[in-house]
Amino acid sequence: MIEKINPQKILIIGAGLAGICVARRLHENHFDFKIIDQGLNESSRVAAGVINPLVFRRTTKSWRIDKFLPVAVDFYDKLSSSWGNKYYEPIPIRRAFSHLQEKETWLERQNWADYSPYMKPIEQEDSDFAGVKNTFGTGVVLQSAYIHTAEFLSDAKKWLQENNHLIEKTFKFDELNPSNGTFDGEQYDAIIFCEGYHGIKNPFFNYLPLEATKGEILTVESTEIKSTELLNRKCFILPVGKNQFKVGATYTWRSPNTDLTNEAKDLLLGQANALVDAKIKIVDHQAGVRPTVLDRRPLIGTHPIYSKLKIFNGLGAKGYLMAPLLSQEFVASLKNISILDKEVDIERYKKRFIQE
Ligand SMILES: Cc1cc2nc3c(=O)[nH]c(=O)nc-3n(C[C@H](O)[C@H](O)[C@H](O)COP(=O)(O)OP(=O)(O)OC[C@H]3O[C@@H](n4cnc5c(N)ncnc54)[C@H](O)[C@@H]3O)c2cc1C
Repeated sequence: MIEKINPQKILIIGAGLAGICVARRLHENHFDFKIIDQGLNESSRVAAGVINPLVFRRTTKSWRIDKFLPVAVDFYDKLSSSWGNKYYEPIPIRRAFSHLQEKETWLERQNWADYSPYMKPIEQEDSDFAGVKNTFGTGVVLQSAYIHTAEFLSDAKKWLQENNHLIEKTFKFDELNPSNGTFDGEQYDAIIFCEGYHGIKNPFFNYLPLEATKGEILTVESTEIKSTELLNRKCFILPVGKNQFKVGATYTWRSPNTDLTNEAKDLLLGQANALVDAKIKIVDHQAGVRPTVLDRRPLIGTHPIYSKLKIFNGLGAKGYLMAPLLSQEFVASLKNISILDKEVDIERYKKRFIQE
């Protein structure tokens, strides 16, 4: 049976993780859509794509993890079936505890019903684990993973190109009529901004507290790190094959540039050397900019005046986990099937919007 195309015509600005996830959900719901991208992809391509169900700072569960995780697994696995490459790669995360209190909190919570799916009970071998320099022992996170981000983005681009969805150019605001949704001579029912940190310059949504948080990441080579687990304390060391590891990532607030710095390189090398006793050679150094938000919740919803203008941004440091479900919920809201979760809806910042 041929599915009917949804009569709504949509334009997405930005084909990073956010735009791709929205595009897939529109595709699943038979919308007619185009996506414009200027080919920068700074954040989504550079990201290690780690999916960690825990937040180590306070040994808590990641926000909405029980809902985000199964949808993410299903999303990436279905794309693998369609596009032919593996994106979702399960990998245990071994956390080297920073202090005794952290170990004690883990020991307590590993028995809680809602935490136990994500925490392997600590055994003697975890306390004595010799693969990291550690004083307080280690704990292993369950159901953690990473995404093969570069392959994911390349295959997504190919899919968009082959299906004639992709317009490769820079979106210019002076070509947009926000009232009737006309851009470049075409009228759209909705224009969805998925610009990543470039959204800080969006004249329609610049009342929102979007921040540019730069991150630098190294690829290193070492024959002396034997781990097949992701190692974590202060930095992460993620094995990616052929004796190579990603070491990341730094956080520099309000830094909308991708310049590579010696400070970040030295910091990451120092953190890696504090975690493992191994000779490390740097083979690559990259920088990207995360679109982050003051309250650590994404920015999704409709402009207070121009109802055709929408935003799906602010994915922050956990985009690869959250975007599959958030894009599904967002497209359901476009179809009036459901309303957005209040925690992500930009309605929460309505008071910051001052009508000129
Ligand atoms: C170093 C680093 C490590 C990270 N590690 C992880 C991790 O381990 N796990 C995780 O989940 N997340 C991680 N992240 C965060 C993750 O990368 C982001 O949450 C996510 O990629 C944001 O995606 P986005 O689509 O919003 O932004 P982007 O990837 O920046 O995409 C925005 C797109 O919009 C396009 N665009 C913008 N303006 C215009 C315009 N005017 N015209 C045309 N095109 C435009 C750009 O070309 C770009 O392709 C990391 C980020 C960094 C920088």
